[in-house]
Amino acid sequence: MHFAWEQLTGNVYRCRLPFCDVTIGLVRGRSGALLVDTGTTLIEAAAIDADVRQLAGCPITHIVLTHKHFDHILGSSMFTGAEIYCAPEVAEYMSSATDQIRDDALHYGADAAEIDRAIAALRPPLHGLYDAVINLGDRSVTIAYLGRGHTTSDLVVIAPGAAGDVGRAVVFTGDLVEESADPAIDADSDVAAWPATLDRLLAIGGPDAIYVPGHGKTVDAEFIRRQRDRLKARAGFESG
Ligand SMILES: [Zn+2]
Repeated sequence: MHFAWEQLTGNVYRCRLPFCDVTIGLVRGRSGALLVDTGTTLIEAAAIDADVRQLAGCPITHIVLTHKHFDHILGSSMFTGAEIYCAPEVAEYMSSATDQIRDDALHYGADAAEIDRAIAALRPPLHGLYDAVINLGDRSVTIAYLGRGHTTSDLVVIAPGAAGDVGRAVVFTGDLVEESADPAIDADSDVAAWPATLDRLLAIGGPDAIYVPGHGKTVDAEFIRRQRDRLKARAGFESG
């Protein structure tokens, strides 16, 4: 194993990559393996690929990109056999905004040659989507768009608890929730809309789900309520 994977339920794992502390997720099913986000470089992605083959016993068949930021998308081209799901805006951004993606990655300290290699290999999906159910054989995974927040087009991934599993649902939130730092806010964020998006996230995951932030430790519903309240206070401060 190249990375330390944390088993969340019987068939659901996650791993915090050393660079940017970005979380990637893995849902293993009888007929495939779904990866949530892909890290920053092809070197990272090759290590993820090797780890998943060992953990899941098969290559990655599906990828969900939660949003457009470099640390979530740039590893995606390594997985040539996988079908990639992302919001339409993310598909568009991956083909039209590679200069911006590169600038952001270098700003966060990524290696320029590695970023150029990842961008040259990038194969943006032709079509994006906001909602989907992906069948992995003995289990399904749901992708949902719950509204604006960290960006205009964040997707979340819900892996319901399966029979014989520990029974808890796992919700991958992307950067709509962060634990290891305050939620990252930039020009694409919508702080006013974000709290309601988190309310929908809590409604879809329920009180007992394991919530997996884009960065940091797994959290519970109470943590998300507190983050929602802080964002609400900030939105009120900005509009007042
Ligand atoms: Zn982000």
